[in-house]
Amino acid sequence: MTAQTTAPHTATRLFAVFAAVGLVPVVVLGFVLAGSYRGEANRRGLDEATSESALIASTAVEPLLFGQDLRLGLSAQEQTQLFQVAQDAAARGTILRLRIRDLDGNVVFSADGSGFGETPEADTLAAAGGAVETDLTRLNTDPNDTGNPGVQVVEVYRPLINGTSKTRIGVLEVYLPYQPINDDITRGLNTLYRDLAIGLALLYLVLAGIARVTTRKLQQYAEDNAHLAEHDPLTCLPNRRLFHRRIAELTDGPAGRVGAVAVIDLDRFKEVNDSLGHHNGDALLARLGARLAGAIRPGDTVARLGGDEFGVILARARNEEEATAALERLRTALAEPVQITGLPLSAEASIGYALTPEDGDDPETLLQRADIAMYVAKAGHTGVVRYSSDQNHYDSDRLAVVGELRRALAEDELLLHYQPKTRLSDGAVTAVEALIRWRHPRHGLLYPDAFLPLAEQTGLIDPLTDWVIATALAQIRDWGEPASELGVSVNISARNLSNPTFADRVLAALAASGLPNNRLLLEITETALFTDIERATTVLNRLSSAGVPISLDDFGQGQTSLGFLSRLPLQELKIDRAFVTDMLADSAHAAIVRSVIELAHNLGFAVVAEGVEDELTMTALGAMRCDAAQGYVLARPLPAGDLLAWISAYERTTQLTPLA
Ligand code: C2E
Ligand code: MG
Ligand code: MG
Repeated sequence: MTAQTTAPHTATRLFAVFAAVGLVPVVVLGFVLAGSYRGEANRRGLDEATSESALIASTAVEPLLFGQDLRLGLSAQEQTQLFQVAQDAAARGTILRLRIRDLDGNVVFSADGSGFGETPEADTLAAAGGAVETDLTRLNTDPNDTGNPGVQVVEVYRPLINGTSKTRIGVLEVYLPYQPINDDITRGLNTLYRDLAIGLALLYLVLAGIARVTTRKLQQYAEDNAHLAEHDPLTCLPNRRLFHRRIAELTDGPAGRVGAVAVIDLDRFKEVNDSLGHHNGDALLARLGARLAGAIRPGDTVARLGGDEFGVILARARNEEEATAALERLRTALAEPVQITGLPLSAEASIGYALTPEDGDDPETLLQRADIAMYVAKAGHTGVVRYSSDQNHYDSDRLAVVGELRRALAEDELLLHYQPKTRLSDGAVTAVEALIRWRHPRHGLLYPDAFLPLAEQTGLIDPLTDWVIATALAQIRDWGEPASELGVSVNISARNLSNPTFADRVLAALAASGLPNNRLLLEITETALFTDIERATTVLNRLSSAGVPISLDDFGQGQTSLGFLSRLPLQELKIDRAFVTDMLADSAHAAIVRSVIELAHNLGFAVVAEGVEDELTMTALGAMRCDAAQGYVLARPLPAGDLLAWISAYERTTQLTPLA
């Protein structure tokens, strides 16, 4: 919000600056033009005076003179007539002073009697030489003048010419009043100034208009950019960055502010992507985003945090009841079927949330804790879960592992160890079990319990299992003697079975390896079956009927109903090592092992005892007619190369001392 409200202010300020700065050159231009108009007008004024003086000389003065060099003096008649002309002109106000000088510059006639006997000035001499000198000045301000400075005048010195011989005979000195010329100039200039002002004002308006349009466009552009930087293009919802800022607005608000921060993760969204394509996955996300945005209350925030994860801020949730109720409403809204390519899809979601201030009072803590609660909700299929400190085992270190695991998958940090399984009747190695390990760059070799639960909760288990199956098949295919006929057992998670594409992916991997389907055996832990029994059974039937043997792992840990056991397409049952390892010391465990062997045989399954740690237990199991054994007494899980060496060595010893 803040970005949108500050943008117009910024734009208006920007425009004001533009307008002010734009005014400066326009005003300067105005002054420069006005100054040069004024200069030009003055020049014209002087030109006008010069022409007027030429007219006076040629029409009023020269015709009165007899044409001889004035150094010879003026006749009385010439003097009288000149007086007459000067008086007339003075009466009309067209000439303020008129003097006639000879070619040496001395005054020979002066209407007002001034100037006789003065030393001639440079102007006078220049005019005697043929030049016309025009100056704007004041009356009585020449160095030779006497009396107070008078009004502004144009002073012109020009040669007087003999009309017949065209020779210079003297100099005419006239002072013309500047006022009428100035009035004329000013009148013209005023019109010009007005036009100039109007023109410049129009120019300024056009410039300001352009600036306005440009700043508006820039403003729009800036707003668009700000929007893009803080919104998710697919759903148009705020993105993680804006979400973070909104949480900060909540937590930085006045003391006593309450609220909830929730993280919503869609369950099995990956299946939609995988089976219907990314395009439809995107369409589903966009629809669900809009649905969430429509279901929140004013003042609350929905954001897309990435992938199939949304974030919600409930700005007024005061306690757990209110927050849970509001989030349950959102969960119900999400579960309403959405039509995608004609298919009704309904999205289940796991929601975790944290309350401020009790569960945290800064955005990082709140988001992280909501995230942890979301994982707990997902693991337990419990819908909406509030963070509590006993969820601490999902601490941030473990969450960081998720990101690392993703990288590990891509960068070949995972590897398989193999543990042999031997037939008890003759000691032959019949198969190996592939067990995943992670060669972590900092923590060293990690065992499955350190990272599998997280892989299962985050959906990473699908690519991980695909990797295990493909790698195990490729490795056993490439093993020569003595392992060329061995089968490989791969462990499967409950999450794998809930994915409808699972069976196809397994069969495709088998086809790609070129191995017969019965070389791969899938181990399903007993508890894994019960998260979605219907779907699991369908997947297992499909695989079993394609010839892939299925084994029920860790049997005895869960509570499989015996009736259900008979309906599963099983070939093998593995007795949980909790009963096997100490069966010689614990008679109840021994009884359980014996009964399970019996039960399995009656149902037609082979029985494997896992966790066999000593020879005596091995012998006892053989006596109970257990089919196969697996455990440290034979071998620990080994890297592929070591396993082959182990088998060779083992086969040499068993030939010497057959077990059976
Ligand atoms: P599991 O399938 O029951 O595998 C047997 C586990 O028991 C292995 O632990 C193995 O090292 C251990 N074990 C074998 N013989 C003995 C013994 O004589 N005594 C004792 N105390 N333990 C023995 P590991 O490798 O840590 O694997 C633990 C579990 O992780 C496995 O149990 C399996 O459920 C799961 N797992 C391992 N690899 C994968 C995998 O690739 N995918 C999946 N989904 N789960 C896997
Ligand atoms: Mg297993
Ligand atoms: Mg097991």
